[in-house]
Amino acid sequence: MKYISNVSTLKYSPELCKGCGICAEVCPHGVFMINGNKKASITDIDLCMECGACEMNCAFGAISVKAGVGCAAAIINGMISGGEPSCGCGCSCGEKAEN
Ligand code: SF4
Ligand code: SF4
Repeated sequence: MKYISNVSTLKYSPELCKGCGICAEVCPHGVFMINGNKKASITDIDLCMECGACEMNCAFGAISVKAGVGCAAAIINGMISGGEPSCGCGCSCGEKAEN
C-alpha cells in the first residue's frame, strides 16, 4: 500500500548505518533492504507509513521519522476505532464534507 507521495518524514543517514539489518526486519512495508555494501537502503520512501519501528530499533541512530503524525496516523486511528480517519489533533480531517 502506497501513501501520499513525497510526504514521509523518514530520514536515513547511511554514514551511521552498521548494516545490522534490523530495520529491514521490523519494517512492515519493506521500506528498507540491505544492499551489497552491507548498508541499508530505502526501496521506496512512499511505502513508509511513519510507524516509527525502524527508528526505535536502529541502535546506531541512522534513522529518524516523526511517528504517529499525519495521514498515516489518521488512517490507523480510523481502522482501530472503526470510524472515519482522524489524526486526533482536533482538526476537521475526519469529517465528511457537507453538501
Ligand atoms: S537498523 Fe540502523 S544500523 Fe541497522 S541496518 Fe538499519 S539503518 Fe543500518
Ligand atoms: S517508519 Fe515504519 S513503515 Fe516507515 S520505514 Fe520505518 S518501519 Fe517502515
